[in-house]
Amino acid sequence: MADRVMEAEDLVERITGEALKESGSGDLSKVLVILPNKRPAYYITGMLAEKLGRAFFPPRVLSIAEFIECEMLEVRPGSVPASQMDEIWLLYRAIRENGLFEGFDFHKFYFWGLKIASVLSELEMEDVPDGKLKNLPTENIPKEAKNVISRLGEIKAGFRKALEQHGFHTPALGYRVVSETPADTIAGGWDKIILAGFYKSTRLEQKVLDLLRGQKKTLEIKRKAETAWKTGNISIHSAFDIHSQVKTIGEILKGLQKDFSSTAVVMPQPDALVPVLWNVLEDLDCPYNVTMGYPLKRTPVFTFLNELMKLQETKTDDGYYARSYLSVLLHPYLKNASKDAKPEEMRMLAQSVEARLTAQNRAFVKLEEIESEFPLLKGINTLAARELESVRTAAGLSRAFSGILSFITKYSFAGDYPFSEEFLECVFRVLEELSSALCKDEPMKKEDLFNLFRYHVDNTRIPFSGIPLKGLQVMGLLETRNLNFRRVIVMDVQEGILPSVSKIDPILPESVRAFLGLPLCKDREEVTRRHFMDLVNSATEAHLVYSEQDRDIRSRFIEEIIWEKQKKEKAGKRVYKKDGEFIALARFSTEIKSSSFEPVPKTPGITEELRAMEYSPTKINSYLNCPAQFYFRYILRLEEKEQMAEDPDASQIGRCVHEILSDLFGSFKGRPYSGAREEMNGMLGETAEKVVEKQFGHLKGNIYLIKEIIKFRLKYLLKKHEELGDFTVLDTEKELKAELGGIGQEPGRVRLHGIIDRIDDRQGEIFIVDYKTGQGAHPDKRKKIEAVPEGRAAIRDFVKSFQLPVYVYLFRHGGSREVSYEKINAAFYNMKEMEESRIFGDKIAYCKGRNREQVMEEVFLPMLRALVSEMLDPDVPFEADKGDKDVCKYCSFSGFCA
Ligand code: SF4
Repeated sequence: MADRVMEAEDLVERITGEALKESGSGDLSKVLVILPNKRPAYYITGMLAEKLGRAFFPPRVLSIAEFIECEMLEVRPGSVPASQMDEIWLLYRAIRENGLFEGFDFHKFYFWGLKIASVLSELEMEDVPDGKLKNLPTENIPKEAKNVISRLGEIKAGFRKALEQHGFHTPALGYRVVSETPADTIAGGWDKIILAGFYKSTRLEQKVLDLLRGQKKTLEIKRKAETAWKTGNISIHSAFDIHSQVKTIGEILKGLQKDFSSTAVVMPQPDALVPVLWNVLEDLDCPYNVTMGYPLKRTPVFTFLNELMKLQETKTDDGYYARSYLSVLLHPYLKNASKDAKPEEMRMLAQSVEARLTAQNRAFVKLEEIESEFPLLKGINTLAARELESVRTAAGLSRAFSGILSFITKYSFAGDYPFSEEFLECVFRVLEELSSALCKDEPMKKEDLFNLFRYHVDNTRIPFSGIPLKGLQVMGLLETRNLNFRRVIVMDVQEGILPSVSKIDPILPESVRAFLGLPLCKDREEVTRRHFMDLVNSATEAHLVYSEQDRDIRSRFIEEIIWEKQKKEKAGKRVYKKDGEFIALARFSTEIKSSSFEPVPKTPGITEELRAMEYSPTKINSYLNCPAQFYFRYILRLEEKEQMAEDPDASQIGRCVHEILSDLFGSFKGRPYSGAREEMNGMLGETAEKVVEKQFGHLKGNIYLIKEIIKFRLKYLLKKHEELGDFTVLDTEKELKAELGGIGQEPGRVRLHGIIDRIDDRQGEIFIVDYKTGQGAHPDKRKKIEAVPEGRAAIRDFVKSFQLPVYVYLFRHGGSREVSYEKINAAFYNMKEMEESRIFGDKIAYCKGRNREQVMEEVFLPMLRALVSEMLDPDVPFEADKGDKDVCKYCSFSGFCA
């Protein structure tokens, strides 16, 4: 056992003190400190420098993983850590030798390989005897996993042999080898060894630590265990979503008035790193330092490489898919890049190609055709496309990717983007790994190679490990282990993240884990709780932020803290009771008008424009949902540019469906449906083909599939229409106009217009149909409505959309003949459910006790007039309304009011 074991609340401080006891002269080079993780090393060295105030020989501070690698150099000189690609390749070979995964190519096995490698590593680290691996329970386990479990012992032995034959080791094998070295040969040459911060080690780690503890020169410092939340220093912030979490963090940091010493923003997930950096830290103008593993697949460098792979994957004999080609050419990395032209010339060139291909509505294009008109693109086309055409091996892929990345690094602004250096360095490291992998020359299909690369990137993290310890620290949760901060701000404190979700393990489900004596779900939660409690309790100020939307649930740790607070505290100034709980004010989640968008006053010019405007239901609904959105779209006329999207999007498909239905039903105007349906069915294929081809170009690949799906769905729609009883189509795509009077503001009336998808005569009733490919917003059918609600937001909560009431009004007042409201109905036709949702009906609450005329005159039109009056009122500015999450989610202008 160690001669001394002690406890400390602040590990860094205690380690520093113990190290200094060894030598007051400043030579600590004979002191070895071993910790579970690396990060505290920088703090220990920093504190020593501060305490000594002069030059000194620092102690060696290693993570346990680094210590094992150093010992391996002594015990097995020549053995090197296997790269992930080599590890999975050797495992693949070992498994195939055991007759498993027959018919699985390497790329297909890779996904399983990562799982199996992790299982083998855990079995090794937990020192599970091979004898226990026989006869493992395999009930309710997938077939592939069952086969693996039944042969785990052989696979483990074969894999180890293969590693050793190639002079490789994995981290687990390193622990095994070091744990088996004689106690007197381990960690020789040190005067003092300090083990610090170890908690719940694996069995093999325990063995290694026990070898060290057995030496007289070893001292162990354990972190004092926290057993209850110190609630007095904790503030809890509820937010609306990730963006409002980021904003909440910005507000907390602003309140610190640039005193960021010993302050950490902790992110259990890396998703919000970029928003935090760009939206918060850049504004604060303070030094900061990022320490966390960031997924490579989230970087623009991988996005670019993925575009190159997609370009190859969509290539046919007719050439490259035009949309994919444009995505590559217009990628920010490439559109400014050229050796032979200035960046602005290249940008214009790329835009000319886009304009040309869009105008020609080309689905596929050959590189030679483009180059005959734009010869400057030849070099880029070769690097970005031709070089990848013949790639068949990992080494070849590495060469091709390295070529294009070297080019953009040299000739574009790629290197100027934030963190480009780290991103590019990581990608080049991955490419280097590919080019030297054992499987580097293994021939594969191009598509398989791409998938292999994607799997590999999926598991690669960029290890941001900034050194400066001054300024604000932005950290992953794991990186905070064994560190104390004066102030911590933790985001994403919610279930599934803190603690994380226990994914179902296909190879080692809980029952098998229990049988083998491996840590269970509850053990993993206990470790997370301990780290999190240490972090929060050691701070004098802790802010916990979480989202409260859809399925997001705040963490069980927050529930415990609230419970403790409820027992101990009364609501203070920073804390208020919400539903009986203690939650800090989170204005981004609870207040509707929470954006930083300043309301825009209506100038005389704008008021004039509003009075002269013609109002469609879309415009009216835009104002109803959010006046700011209306302002951006119809006053500033900010519209998203129509782009050649990578895939046909839902709105394009929706337009196609509308046009096909208009053509079909339009061809049979005036004829009863019962007599026309067969003929319509016959016309469907040709009409769909014509319309889809016009919209998307040649009927190849996924375009052909889209057409087939549309055809299939519409065939079903025609059948379902039989259930409507016999009807006659009177018109399709009918434009109607009318004036609406009784407006409280000048000029007292406005012009309305609308285009109605279809108008039927259903046994003497006029029936207005609007096709919806998604859900149509419909007035709340459960509300009775006695009086007109006051204010736009209240009207919106009931009406949701004025589309159908406006159509009914337009038909009544703008049609070629006078028809009473009693003879008109209107409905959204939901194309997914193939169902109608009508505006008038006996079971609808607002219709109870009213005829249709009364519903229009007492319910819808007064609300419409009130809304339009507010719209024209010069004293009511355009405000942002974030009350409806779905509206904001799909709004093109969210960037203006974030
Ligand atoms: S994002 Fe929301 S608040 Fe902003 S303009 Fe759009 S709808 Fe309005």
